[in-house]
Amino acid sequence: LMFKPLHQSELDRTLAGLRDDRHWLTEAAVMQALDQDEFLLEYQPLTDVRSGHIRSLESLIRWRHPQRGRIGPDQFIPFVEANRVIGPVTQWVAETAIAQLGAWSEMGLELNIAINASARNLSDDSLAETILAACERAGIPPERVTLEITETAAMERFEDAVATLSRLRASGMHLAIDDFGTGYSSLAQLRRLPFSQIKIDRSLVTNCQQSHSALQIISTVVDLARSLGLRCIAEGVETKEDFDAVGNLGCDVAQGYLISRPLPADQLPPWLADWPVIPGP
Ligand code: C2E
Ligand code: CA
Ligand code: CA
Ligand code: CA
Repeated sequence: LMFKPLHQSELDRTLAGLRDDRHWLTEAAVMQALDQDEFLLEYQPLTDVRSGHIRSLESLIRWRHPQRGRIGPDQFIPFVEANRVIGPVTQWVAETAIAQLGAWSEMGLELNIAINASARNLSDDSLAETILAACERAGIPPERVTLEITETAAMERFEDAVATLSRLRASGMHLAIDDFGTGYSSLAQLRRLPFSQIKIDRSLVTNCQQSHSALQIISTVVDLARSLGLRCIAEGVETKEDFDAVGNLGCDVAQGYLISRPLPADQLPPWLADWPVIPGP
């Protein structure tokens, strides 16, 4: 009897593998996963390039699926973003990350946090209220939070997006344009929306010192960020060579496996005990 649940879950996994891949990922399945607490966040440190201090953590979602095991965001976020469930998922992410930051703050661990949102979230006029209410509940000033916006499709209802972002920026929250240099994250958005940071996509950063064109592009993005008064963050820093290269090019903040992989919440306080922490966006 003791081993029955194990056999059952192995059987479920096998059956799930035999089914067509498209059947497991539905809006109803995502809502049920939210309801049954199957999502979790991991946190990856962001380091100040010049001082080496940890400033902030990016929260990254994972799915502990009862049949399929651990699923990374690349396997379900594109579907979620293309459907209405992006609203409830982003709400859960924001509330969970900000509550976690509040819990760490009570332990004396003061940090900033970055939360990912889809451009599609911005047309929902309840998002700003949801995030600000979560800050209020957790006793976290909005200045401690950065919203990283990824554009996977052309932004719909642009005026609503402007209103949401302006409301959040006015509260003191920081706004980053994510995956800069890829897809739709473009110059046009930079000019029209109140961003305070540019995150350079890791496809440009990892091994950049081996590519003349990658170095040129990063350097150009850094100049652009400077001239617009924006902070510049390099993601995907995997080696000391990457770190030195983005530092020499003038990036302000580095994030990547060189410093740490994303970690579960309970591993952060012991990991951070070895690093100086000065909170900042
Ligand atoms: P992103 O926002 O660009 O996040 C950075 C991704 O790069 C993360 O992948 C992170 O684990 C990975 N990464 C960090 N450092 C390195 C490195 O040095 N080398 C390599 N090879 N990878 C590195 P992850 O966690 O699999 O997330 C993938 C994407 O899924 C994210 O890209 C983001 O677009 C999306 N995502 C993750 N969490 C959320 C979320 O809560 N909400 C939304 N809307 N999207 C999310
Ligand atoms: Ca991000
Ligand atoms: Ca990216
Ligand atoms: Ca992204």
